[in-house]
Amino acid sequence: MAKYIFVTGGVVSSVGKGITAASIGTLLESRHITVSVQKLDPYLNVDPGTMSPYQHGEVFVTQDGAETDLDLGNYERFIGVNLTAESNVTSGQIYSEVLAKERRGDYLGGTIQVVPHVTTEIKERFKRLAEKSQAEVIIIEVGGTVGDIEGQPFLEAIRQMRKDAGRDNVLYIHVTLLPYLSSTQELKTKPTQHSVNELRRIGIQPDIIICRSDYPIPEGIRDKISLFCDVERQAVIPLPTAPTIYEIPLLLEEAELGQLIVDKLGLKANQPDLSQWKELVERLKTPHEPVNIALVGKYVELQDAYFSVREALCHAALYHDRDINLFWVHSEDLEKDGSDALLRSAQGIIVPGGFGIRGIEGMVTAADYARKNEIPYLGLCLGMQVMVIAFARSVLGSNEPNSTELNASTPYPVIDLLPEQKTIENKGGTMRLGNYPCQVVKGTHAAAAYGQELIYERHRHRYEFNNKFRTQLAEAGLVYSGLSPDGRLVEICELANHPWMVSCQFHPEFGSRPSHPHPLFRDFVGVAKEILREGAQPSLPLSP
Ligand code: GLN
Repeated sequence: MAKYIFVTGGVVSSVGKGITAASIGTLLESRHITVSVQKLDPYLNVDPGTMSPYQHGEVFVTQDGAETDLDLGNYERFIGVNLTAESNVTSGQIYSEVLAKERRGDYLGGTIQVVPHVTTEIKERFKRLAEKSQAEVIIIEVGGTVGDIEGQPFLEAIRQMRKDAGRDNVLYIHVTLLPYLSSTQELKTKPTQHSVNELRRIGIQPDIIICRSDYPIPEGIRDKISLFCDVERQAVIPLPTAPTIYEIPLLLEEAELGQLIVDKLGLKANQPDLSQWKELVERLKTPHEPVNIALVGKYVELQDAYFSVREALCHAALYHDRDINLFWVHSEDLEKDGSDALLRSAQGIIVPGGFGIRGIEGMVTAADYARKNEIPYLGLCLGMQVMVIAFARSVLGSNEPNSTELNASTPYPVIDLLPEQKTIENKGGTMRLGNYPCQVVKGTHAAAAYGQELIYERHRHRYEFNNKFRTQLAEAGLVYSGLSPDGRLVEICELANHPWMVSCQFHPEFGSRPSHPHPLFRDFVGVAKEILREGAQPSLPLSP
């Protein structure tokens, strides 16, 4: 039977629970213990797919097509597994299921209540993942902060698990923040004490407390938390802010968290092998020559909206022994200020995914700039649609080519809905989602990157390249380098007469791993690093 680790957060949100949960997975994996991970999100949306990136950051897509929390991306990158829809549970899913059962008559005669009906449904999801994954340990992160009203049923469900699964099979880890007071120059433990009290009030005594802090944590602070929160001293784990998230597993291992978990859960474990991870962090922390990449999007104020894109760029740069110097360019600024000033020093331009009309013209400008100035370009989903729009406009000599998402009455709908998508009215979960096969065309940049003919990539979009324009744009130099196996859908396209302008209708960023950069990102950065741009020239040795 699986054992469970529940990770809760206290004091503030964004305390790093997700990375901590993922890192715990790394520590267990490094001891050859199999793990799977689940995120519980207390909001009432069924999934984050209908939420604005400003609300939620990136929507991470699993291979089986679930639209999920971005923490799943960290789990996949840290544990090296591909997760499924079972790994993200929301209150919306739980309540929908309970209400559907009530209407079906499954609870006939009963009064439906949060305890036990909602909590039982939540616990079902834990067990379902345990059965499906067959992992020895299931790590479950409870979203939000202890004390949130909407998180209560989840906390009650995890409390019940100690009895259901047995005391030796369940571990509660609480992640808190120690704020720093500059006036007295000290870290404060009171908020941690309060949040542990809040947990205890609902019947959960944490076994381990992980203390996040921007400053080194003195031993005395550990003693104090141990005393006030009734946790063994070695179970108070300091976690100071690290320069890279990939260092967190190493910091936690150094604090002996791995062994502590093994002991507390009575797990059979090998000696940890974190050598590859150490090498990765070593390389990440070594300064390298930077490559200037401009990321042109409309949600750039919130960098979490492009979490996986940023990580994929970092993995690719590491492969080439470079650092990424990422400029966040707001696409609306490109509409105002023109492209040259904002893109002049970019060695590569990336246009990631997005929805809706705001900022589109700026993205078209960026694609046009990349084409005319022979700057490497990688378009991801919307970034491919924008590249096609920009190219069609140049070929047709008109500003009217567009996507019907952005202008329903354009005379040149180069990007359009498929006929079968036109009748769909519901917005939630109705896009083309998850893995689809793609046949890569020989002799193209895409083929050189992938080195294989049949690939599978994750999708999340409604609109597609419009085949009515295929011949005309091909004659002008657009190359269709990846197609669905039936030839009907353009999945990758690139420009002939350009060093490297490649776009895909899918999201390669979700498949990139620190030790296995995605081939398209790898080659994009590989070409970009050779481009000399303003501010990027290596310094010349000046001979007297
Ligand atoms: N808005 C576009 C579509 O729905 C692109 C989506 C995306 O970039 N993920 O097709």
